[in-house]
Amino acid sequence: MSREYRVGHGQDAHRLVAGRTLVVGGVRMPDSPRGPDAHSDGDVLLHALADALLSTYALGDIGRLFPPSDPKFAGLDSREIVARVLEKLELHASGARLENVAAVVTLDAPKLGARRDDIACSVAGLLGIEPAAVGLTFKTSEGLAPDHVQASVTLLLSRAP
Ligand SMILES: [Zn+2]
Repeated sequence: MSREYRVGHGQDAHRLVAGRTLVVGGVRMPDSPRGPDAHSDGDVLLHALADALLSTYALGDIGRLFPPSDPKFAGLDSREIVARVLEKLELHASGARLENVAAVVTLDAPKLGARRDDIACSVAGLLGIEPAAVGLTFKTSEGLAPDHVQASVTLLLSRAP
C-alpha cells in the first residue's frame, strides 16, 4: 500500500538584542554579542520546525500550545517545545516518519556556516533522523534586516495508511 505524504511549513523571526545568548537549532553560540529577544530561548530554527511539524496535520501552532503570556514557559528550552510537539504528532498520526527537513536561516552575523554540522546533528538528534536528512541553507539579509534572526522550515512526513 502506498504511504500517505504530508508537507509541513513554518516560519519564525526574533529581534536580536544584547545580553541574550544566540541559539540556533539547539546549538548555543555564547560568542555572539547578541541573541534573540524572546519569551523562550528564541531558537528560530526550532520554533519554525515545531510549527512545520504541527502544520502537517493542522494541529495549530506553538503560540497556542505555549502561550507567551504563560509564565511557566519563560526561558523554555526550545528542544522541549519540539519534543512536546513530536509527542502530540505521534498521538495524532502514529507511525508518521519524517523524510527530510529543509531549513533556511537568515542572519547577518555571526556567520553560521562553521556550525553547520553541529546544527544538523542537533536537529537530526531531536527528530531521530539522519543529519543527511536535514538540509540547512544559511543566508544573510544583505543588510536589510541586520537586527533580526529568521528561519523558515519545510518538511515532508510520510505514514503508512
Ligand atoms: Zn520564536
